[in-house]
Amino acid sequence: MSANADSIKVHLPDGSIKEFPAGSTPHDVAMSISPRLAAAAVVARIAPLTTATSTPTETPADAHEAGEASMYGAAAEDAERLVDLSAPLDRDVRLQLLTEKDEDALKVVRHSAAHVMATAVLELFPETKLGHGPATDAGYFYDFYRPTPFTPEDLKAIEAKMAEVVARNEPFVREWEPRDKSLERFKESNDFMKAHFVERFTKPGEEISFYRNGKFEDFCRGPHVPTTGRVKAFKVMSIAGAYWLGDEKNPQLQRIYGTAFFSAKELEQHFARLEEAQRRDHRVLGKQLDLFSIQEVAGAGLIFWHPKGAMIRKIMEEWMRDECVKRGYSLVYTPHVARVNLWQISGHEGFYSQNMYTPMELDDADYRMKPMNCPFHVLIYKNTPKSYRDLPVRYAELGNVYRYERSGTMHGLLRVRGFTQDDAHIFCQPSQIEDEIVSCIEFAQHVLETFGFKEFKVELSTWDPNDRKSYAGSDEKWAAAIHSLETALQRKSIPFRTIKGEAAFYGPKIDIKLVDVLGRLWQLSTVQFDFNLPARFELEYVGEDGERHQPVMVHRALYGSVERFFGVLIEHYAGAFPLWLAPVQAGIVPISERHHAYAEKIRSTLLDAGMRVEIDERNEKMQAKIRDFTLQKIPYVLVVGDKEAETGAVSLRVRGQGDQGSMALNDFTTRAKALADSRSTEL
Ligand SMILES: [Zn+2]
Ligand SMILES: [Zn+2]
Repeated sequence: MSANADSIKVHLPDGSIKEFPAGSTPHDVAMSISPRLAAAAVVARIAPLTTATSTPTETPADAHEAGEASMYGAAAEDAERLVDLSAPLDRDVRLQLLTEKDEDALKVVRHSAAHVMATAVLELFPETKLGHGPATDAGYFYDFYRPTPFTPEDLKAIEAKMAEVVARNEPFVREWEPRDKSLERFKESNDFMKAHFVERFTKPGEEISFYRNGKFEDFCRGPHVPTTGRVKAFKVMSIAGAYWLGDEKNPQLQRIYGTAFFSAKELEQHFARLEEAQRRDHRVLGKQLDLFSIQEVAGAGLIFWHPKGAMIRKIMEEWMRDECVKRGYSLVYTPHVARVNLWQISGHEGFYSQNMYTPMELDDADYRMKPMNCPFHVLIYKNTPKSYRDLPVRYAELGNVYRYERSGTMHGLLRVRGFTQDDAHIFCQPSQIEDEIVSCIEFAQHVLETFGFKEFKVELSTWDPNDRKSYAGSDEKWAAAIHSLETALQRKSIPFRTIKGEAAFYGPKIDIKLVDVLGRLWQLSTVQFDFNLPARFELEYVGEDGERHQPVMVHRALYGSVERFFGVLIEHYAGAFPLWLAPVQAGIVPISERHHAYAEKIRSTLLDAGMRVEIDERNEKMQAKIRDFTLQKIPYVLVVGDKEAETGAVSLRVRGQGDQGSMALNDFTTRAKALADSRSTEL
């Protein structure tokens, strides 16, 4: 608290400290800086002064999953949080005004749009009962209960009504009420969902928070934009059914999805991106280009790699294995199943069994498919005694793992029941860990750059020391592990954000999310500490001191899942793979049958050079053959007729660049081979 209780000190991001009367609002602070800032501000971020540094607490990407608690539960006073511009400030704080430039501000706009939508729904369909309406990464939704289904026309009417609510520019006003009174009200009006949220997320005796705009009110802890008029660009998107609390015995809710942006231009760009994403959908392209399939008769989430997809996979796998060997990894292969007893020792049987295939009863024991490769690599480590001279030991495997996903949750190559991890486990001395982490990060960067991803974001997930029981390993181990991950990132000058409480129970981790051509984030590479398995399997090495020590263990996967990485590649390149990855690099089009012999000669020349080639010998018109190769997104199309055959040339068409005219076959071969060998992503 301030020395003078009548005034508070507000610490601003530029380091300045301003004094205000107690009860002043972030809006007052903004006005004192400039009326323009006050008009541009959307919401404020405040933090208590006791927080050592102003490291922003980040919300996890899937925050809306944990959204209910964050929407209704009281925010901790001592934590950094977002507040309304009209929230009275009663103590010294750090304060940052968020404008449209801030991602978190957009979430506040979107959640406010959800209130606007609920306002519209109740005005049009007053019998509707409200669930909840959080912001999501792509927009917002609101869950409604109404026996009559909303029709597409209803959605249009809702959107039109929302425009009215926005035009009314109603202030979002925060109000408080004793919990018991609210609960009684909700129960009386049969608002069973709101009653549930109050019971679940607030405590008896509390005052609970509502937001009112016009006649509409919603139980919510906010924050919100100042008025409905600040929801400037929005769209009602779609509707889906969902059972209340995910239980089919409960009433079915109607979840209406929408999205909102700061401007109409951004909204338009969003829809253009969505359209582009649809055009790039790996499931559609996978079929068109005959890369892979999922077969109903075999089961959901199980991938069949067709010859062209399999060729890309071969290239990915060979590249990865070669890189591993270059970097001092040893390649291993391990079984796909193991006795349940192994999974008991590793702990998977206890904490991971809900993600595992059920046991198979054989004559000697029960077996389970492996959901992870780690225990197998641990067994190889343990199979011979190790001394400090052997460390670091790095085992790498492209290991097939099987994880149970609920039927209906699978999604193409992205969410599957069987996949291949480019998995590796590093066992080392504590003194070696930092260098190992640095090498892992360098390796991950090399993977992403090689496959044509220019941008990535790094997150460091740490534990929550206040939630001690959820984590294995001593305080010292956690502190040391987090320190070495941080230091490694700093040594590489890689910006990262720290996410508290997102670590695995067995140790902290670094996640690397790549940014694809549409700006979408994909979680693929991960580097994780493990305090658990070395202890459970009693791993050892003999140190320089002649004593037995426990090695430090790191899990790391860079593609993550080969299937998923392939799916991302398909979408990133819209199926037009760079030359070095293209399953067919050149398509040869003989103009007529008498050019087949020369076409064969070209093929064998290119095959000898290590290129992948196809000839279209069908009795079709030249244009049709060129078109078919073009539709297959093949980098080069080589047309050959009399002139080419006589002069030993090819008539070259390059994907995306059109007809390049004639070129000597040898020149083409040399040039194409050099480009493929360079792994350029330019073609
Ligand atoms: Zn709200
Ligand atoms: Zn592992």
